[in-house]
Amino acid sequence: MLLSYKYRIHPNRRQREALDEMLHWFCQLYNAGLQQRIEAYRRQGVSLTYKAQADELKLLRTEVPELGNYSFSAEQQVLRRLTKTFNAFFGRVKRGAKAGFPRFKASARFHAADFRFGDGLKMKPGRRLSIVGIPGLVKVKWHRDWPPGAACGAAVITRQAGKWSVVFQLDAPVEHSVTGPVTVGLDAGLSALVALSDGALVERPNWTKKAAKGLRKRQRAVSRSRKPNLRSKRRKKATARLAAYSRKTANRRADHLHKLAADIVARYDRIAVEDLTIQGLARSMLAKDVLDAAWGLLMALIADKAERAGKLVVAVDPRGTSQECPCCGAKVEKTLADRVHRCPDCGLVENRDVAAASVIEFRAFGHNKFRPGSGLRTPSGRVAA
Ligand SMILES: [Zn+2]
Repeated sequence: MLLSYKYRIHPNRRQREALDEMLHWFCQLYNAGLQQRIEAYRRQGVSLTYKAQADELKLLRTEVPELGNYSFSAEQQVLRRLTKTFNAFFGRVKRGAKAGFPRFKASARFHAADFRFGDGLKMKPGRRLSIVGIPGLVKVKWHRDWPPGAACGAAVITRQAGKWSVVFQLDAPVEHSVTGPVTVGLDAGLSALVALSDGALVERPNWTKKAAKGLRKRQRAVSRSRKPNLRSKRRKKATARLAAYSRKTANRRADHLHKLAADIVARYDRIAVEDLTIQGLARSMLAKDVLDAAWGLLMALIADKAERAGKLVVAVDPRGTSQECPCCGAKVEKTLADRVHRCPDCGLVENRDVAAASVIEFRAFGHNKFRPGSGLRTPSGRVAA
């Protein structure tokens, strides 16, 4: 099982400058590679392979001595990242989707470098990092230990609003769960953040609105300071405040969602969710106003925590889940304004999101609390229409 463990690092001034410089050169490499790929595509309609580009890297490192200063394998990772972006572009072309060429990146927005652990980035005694091309050893704020038996394969150095971190990709043995075979279905609710097939609705936390307000305030400060008669120092400050605010709210959200995901995984052993990768979902999700980062993050956290705990997450085709009766399977059409599922066939009356979550549970496990055979059916859940 793969885990990501993130730690703040505290480079000194010289190290910070060197890290900025390194990201600058990695960005140059990314853009040069992209330029080369675009030309190959425009001239011959072909996609260069990763290998073709990686083969040239050795030579490039002698021609551009700055590149030669840094980790060879980290630079290979830059080219791998580019390959991924380009393959995704080709995939979109193939599917006939709106393609859009991969874009050049500004080095101020190039925020991550991937290392092979033990190669370009090493752990030294006292838990300090030695990074090829960076002077001295970089301090790590070691706020938690790796899980027992973990092996580190890769490490990513990131810069976020002027703060530096390292993310270790760990491979750790799975701990198996001991609880019973309890299942649940989850659906993105209309007004709730998530609806559970057992009837629970988890409220959408009010940080969504609050954060939006705070964000707007700080964005206005940035745009005000854009006026030419103001010194750019003020603008810089406003921008830094905006970035710090986004980071703080992001942390708060993540914290909240971590707890929610942990709770759901602790309570259920087999969890059914919508398959978020299915085409066409985005549109229906958008209509529900839930296509926000919170939902995607929650799903990712549940998947991660479930895997860690040896529990099962099953993703099902989400199409039509809100238009189906969880009890008898009849098609029950609803508009977004209909908050209640009322089945004319079997008479089930239920909150629409709980009904959809129950359909999701049924699709994954073949039963839910309304379907005969589940052993959990509650007649009181049924009301005459
Ligand atoms: Zn029905």
